[in-house]
Amino acid sequence: MGPLKSSLLSSEVQNVPKQSVISSSLNRVFGLNSSSPRIWKSRLSWRIATVVFLTILVTQFVILLLQVREHELKLLNDVREVGRSAITSVIEDAPGLFETPITKHKAESIIGSTIIDGFNIYSPKDFMLLGTYGKPISVLEINKDKLSHTHRSNDGRAYEVIYRANDLRKPYIVAARLNSQNVKPAVGSYIKQSILIMLILSTLVTTVLMIALGHWLLEPILFMRTNLIAARNNPENPKIPDSPYNTKDEIGESISIAQELIRQNAENMQQVRAAAEDKIHKLAFYDQLTGLPNRTLFSQKLMELAFTQGEKTPKRLAVVTLDLDHFKDINDSMGHNVGDAILRGVGKRLRSALPDQSVVARAGEDEFAITVPLNVGINTSREVAEKVSDIIRSKPFKVFNENFQVRTSIGVATYPDDGSDPSIVLKNADIALNRAKEEGRDRISEYSEDFDRAVQQRFQLLRDLRDALDNEELTVFYQPQFDLRKGTIIGAEALIRWWKKDNSKEGSTFISPGEFIPIAEQSGLIVPIGAWVMKEACRTAKKWYDAGKDIRIAVNVSGAQFYQADLVDLTKNVLKETGVKPHLLELEVTESVFMDDISVAVETLKELHELGVELAIDDFGTGYSSLSYLRQFNIDRLKIDQSFIRNALTNNDDAAIAKTIINLGHSLNLQVIAEGVETSDHERFLLAEGCDEVQGFRYSKPVPKDEFWEFVENYNGSLDSFKA
Ligand code: C2E
Ligand code: CA
Ligand code: CA
Repeated sequence: MGPLKSSLLSSEVQNVPKQSVISSSLNRVFGLNSSSPRIWKSRLSWRIATVVFLTILVTQFVILLLQVREHELKLLNDVREVGRSAITSVIEDAPGLFETPITKHKAESIIGSTIIDGFNIYSPKDFMLLGTYGKPISVLEINKDKLSHTHRSNDGRAYEVIYRANDLRKPYIVAARLNSQNVKPAVGSYIKQSILIMLILSTLVTTVLMIALGHWLLEPILFMRTNLIAARNNPENPKIPDSPYNTKDEIGESISIAQELIRQNAENMQQVRAAAEDKIHKLAFYDQLTGLPNRTLFSQKLMELAFTQGEKTPKRLAVVTLDLDHFKDINDSMGHNVGDAILRGVGKRLRSALPDQSVVARAGEDEFAITVPLNVGINTSREVAEKVSDIIRSKPFKVFNENFQVRTSIGVATYPDDGSDPSIVLKNADIALNRAKEEGRDRISEYSEDFDRAVQQRFQLLRDLRDALDNEELTVFYQPQFDLRKGTIIGAEALIRWWKKDNSKEGSTFISPGEFIPIAEQSGLIVPIGAWVMKEACRTAKKWYDAGKDIRIAVNVSGAQFYQADLVDLTKNVLKETGVKPHLLELEVTESVFMDDISVAVETLKELHELGVELAIDDFGTGYSSLSYLRQFNIDRLKIDQSFIRNALTNNDDAAIAKTIINLGHSLNLQVIAEGVETSDHERFLLAEGCDEVQGFRYSKPVPKDEFWEFVENYNGSLDSFKA
C-alpha cells in the first residue's frame, strides 16, 4: 500500500466521526433518526399534517380557479389572433366602394383550412354588410355598441369575435366565427396539470413543515411525554435520559423544567420513603418509651456480636436479663407516669454505666436484656450481673420529687458456655431470671444446666397433670374449721390431692399441691381442675347436709379462675347441679388476686355475694392490699396467713400483725379465721386476741371425706379434747 493511499485512508478514518455528526444532523433535520417514526405515529402530527396539507390545497385551489379563467381567456385571445391574421391576409387593399374586399375564392380558402368557420365583413363607416362567408354568424347587424361583442357557443366549439379596423389595419370591420373546440381540452389539461403540481407542492410543503415541526416541536414534546410517562410509572426512580434539546428555546426550557420537577419529586418521594422506613424500623426494633432496642433487635445484635469474630481469642458474652421487682405494684399504686419514668431511668442508668460495646434493650414490660462482651474490663458474667444490680440499687430513682427504691431479679448466662446458639443463651438467661423470681426476687441467679432439667421436669409434670384429670388421679381432702370459742365444727377447707400413678412399688407418688398448683395456674389447667374441685366439694357438702350436718366447705380459687373463667356462672351452675345451699360454699381467694384488677374484683365479688356464697380472703397479711379497697370488697371472712400464726409466739412483729388483722376484721364486721394452728399456745394466743375461728394440724390434717365424716361423728364438741 502506497503512502498516499494510506494517508487517504487515514483521512477517511478521521472523517468518519465528522460524517456521522453531519449525517446525524441531517437525519435530525429530515426526520430520519430513530424518533421520526414516532412522529408519524403521533396523533398530533397527523392532525397538523392534515390541516397544513388541506390549507395549502384549498389556497392553491382558489388561486387555480382564478388562473383557469385567465388561461382560458389567453387561449381565446390566441384563437382570436390566429383568426385575425388569417382574415387580414385575404383582405384586398383596394376594391371598389361598397364592394367586399375578399374574393369568394380567397374566403373559401381560409374557411376550413384555418380556425375560421365563417365571417361577415362590414364597412366601418355605416356598418354596412359587405359580404358573408361560411357558417352564419349569430349577430348580423353591427353597430357601435356591438363593436366589442364576443360570443361563445354553449358547446364551446364556436367563438364569435368582431375585429375592428384597428385590429385588421384595414378599413373594414369583420365579425368572424372561429373554431374554438381546442380551447376546452387545453383548459382541462391545464387544470389537470395544475392539480398535479398542487398536490406535489402541498405534499412537499407539508413534509418539509412536518420535518421542521417534528424537529423543533413534536420530537421534544414526545420526548417530554416519554419522560412524564416514565415519571408516572415509576415516580420514585424514573428513568429519564438527559435532554438533548436546547434550553434556550421555549420547548427545550419546558423540558428541562419538567425534568427538574420529575427529579425533585423523585427525590422527595425517596426522602419520604426513607423517613417512613426509618420510622417503621424504629417502631419495629426500638422501644418507644426508653428508646432502647427491643427484644427482636436485641436478639439480632446478640447474634451479630457473637458471630463477628476476627479476634484471636474466641468471643465470650455475658447475657443478663432483669426484671424489676413488684413493678406492677408501683404502676398500680402510683400510676403509669411514675412507672414509665422509672423504666426510662433504669434504661438510662444501664446505658450510661455499661461499656459502649454492650447492648442494653427493653425486652418486655419491666424486663431488660443486656449483653456485654467479656474481657473489656469485666471478666465474668457474674461481675456483669453484680454491676447491673449495683447500678439499679445504688441510689433510688427520683420521680416527681419522690424517691423510689427499685430492686431487680437478675438472670445470667454466658455465651458460648451456656449454649452454642446466642438465642439459646438468651433463653437460658430467662430461665435463670425465672429462677431468681421464684427464689424470692431481689437476687441474681446464674444459669445452670440443672435449671434446664427442672424446666423439663415441670413440662413433664404439666403433661402428667393433664392426664391426671382424665385418669381420676385427683381427690379432695378436707380439713376441719372450728368456732374457737364454742368449739363446734363450722366448716372444712377442701384441699386437692394428687397421687401420680407410676411404676413405683406403691403404684403412685404423692405430689404436693405446692408443686403442681403453680404449674396448673401458669398453664391455665387450674380452670378445669378448680371447677372439678368446686363440684366435688359441693357434692360432699350436700351429702353431709343431707346427713344432718351444716358444714360449710371452703374452696380455693386462684387468679386464673377468678379472671379467665366465668367464675360467677360456674358457681351458679355448680350450686344448681349439686343442689347445695349457697351458704355451705365458701370461696377463698388470696388478696393479691384482687389487686390485679380491683374494679373487676369488686364487681365479681358483688355478683358472687348475690349468689349467697361465703367469701374469704386467703393468706391475709402477705399481700399489698390497702384498707381502702378492703372496704369495697363484699367478703365475709379474713384468713390470717399461717406464717403469722407460726411465728406469733416468737416474733413480736408477727404477733402484732396477727392482732392487727383480727382487729381490722372485726372493725369491718368480718369473721377472722386463723390457719396453721398447730399447738395449744397458738390456740391460747388466738383466743386471747379474740380470733373467731381456727384450722390446723392441732385439730386435724386434711383427710379424705369418709375419714372426715368419721371425725365429725366422733367429735365431742370441745376443743379441749385435743391433746395439749
Ligand atoms: P392454702 O390455701 O393456704 O391451704 C392451706 C395449706 O396449709 C394446705 O396445704 C394445708 O394442708 C396446710 N395446713 C393446714 N393446717 C396446717 C398446719 O397446721 N400446719 C401447716 N404447716 N400446714 C397446714 P396444701 O394442701 O399442701 O395446699 C397448699 C396450697 O395449694 C394451698 O394453700 C392452696 O393455695 C393450694 N391449693 C390446694 N388445693 C387447691 C385447690 O383445690 N385449688 C387451688 N386453686 N389451690 C389449691
Ligand atoms: Ca386456702
Ligand atoms: Ca392459706
